[in-house]
Amino acid sequence: MSNINDVNLVVGAGISGAVIANLIATELGEKVLVIDKKNHIAGNCYDYRDENGIMIHKYGSHIFHTNSEKVWKYLKQFTDFNTYMHKVVGYLDGIETHIPFNFNTLYDVFPQTLASKLEEKLLKNFKINTKVPILEFQKQDDEDLKFLANYVYEKIFLHYTTKQWGVKPEEVDGAVTARVPVYLSKDNRYFQDKYQGIPLKGYTEVVRKMLDNKNIKVKLNTDFKDFKDKDFKRIFYTGSIDEFYDYKYGQLPYRSVNFKFETYDKEYYQSNACVNYPCNYDFTRIHEYKYYLDDKSDKTVIAKEYSEFFELGKNERYYPIPKDENTELYNKYQEEAKKENKVYFLGRLGDYKYYNMDKAVERALELFEGLK
Ligand code: UDP
Repeated sequence: MSNINDVNLVVGAGISGAVIANLIATELGEKVLVIDKKNHIAGNCYDYRDENGIMIHKYGSHIFHTNSEKVWKYLKQFTDFNTYMHKVVGYLDGIETHIPFNFNTLYDVFPQTLASKLEEKLLKNFKINTKVPILEFQKQDDEDLKFLANYVYEKIFLHYTTKQWGVKPEEVDGAVTARVPVYLSKDNRYFQDKYQGIPLKGYTEVVRKMLDNKNIKVKLNTDFKDFKDKDFKRIFYTGSIDEFYDYKYGQLPYRSVNFKFETYDKEYYQSNACVNYPCNYDFTRIHEYKYYLDDKSDKTVIAKEYSEFFELGKNERYYPIPKDENTELYNKYQEEAKKENKVYFLGRLGDYKYYNMDKAVERALELFEGLK
């Protein structure tokens, strides 16, 4: 890259960084240098085929889903998707059943007569096909529905959330548990979005294609510190915003995840791609990767997911922790960011927001629109 003033720097080769780099390179025809600390592209969406031919999501299951035509159309330039629609099962009282809790779950876990009585009351009190966050669902007057709400709270949310976030459900932002509402429906899917699926050749390939442009150069194993003082045209920073400002107001907390991988000499380990264990064990869930692209192998690979605090230098950042005091701290950094004239923050870590992949893409598309 000749003159650095003509070059845009993108820090982080994850999905957010790849989208913005791609847009700058293709639509503006400008040069982009993408750097990443990791030794691979695609950030936490990174996947690879292992020696058994199974596509492994190194940083946990990534299931694409969106209602946004714009996001879907943009991504379809780089990949076709299969028609995988995610379902989650979990063990409640040792019974393998559907999560989110829905009418099918109700009939799986309770005797028929009790389930019918509860179903009737639910239909009297809620509209069919509505989604009710657990913290709302607990506000019941009817004794039977109170019993049901307590059951769902205790069996699905309390222990899982304590394992995942280190605190009780009422101590994390309501939006977090609202991602998995009580669903007054027989729809067992985890998401109801119009578009859902897994990229046929995996996420890494999608990101590779986004970055495959004569205007884009990618440097892996590269720290932003080495570029901090250089005068780029613009900087798009998808790392954690507190790190950019040398933690001057303190560290933004994150949850991290530790995946314990196991390979089994059998075709399948469990009945479903994702099995939750809300009440048992120290892990939250088990992922079995071959389901996502229907990979054929005599072996199968699973990952047990253990949640832990993020510690600098020890593990990776996965989840911003949405709660008031963290938002206040983030806002201080955001105030600093507003003073920048050529530095833009985006992505889960740059925005400190619990984005799904489609929201990360949408955010990058919108940021680019704003630039134009
Ligand atoms: N959750 C829960 N029990 C479950 C599944 C989810 O309590 O069986 C809660 C938990 O607090 C979790 C949140 O709902 O962090 C969001 O779950 P989701 O599956 O959307 O999390 P992600 O896949 O992003 O880790």
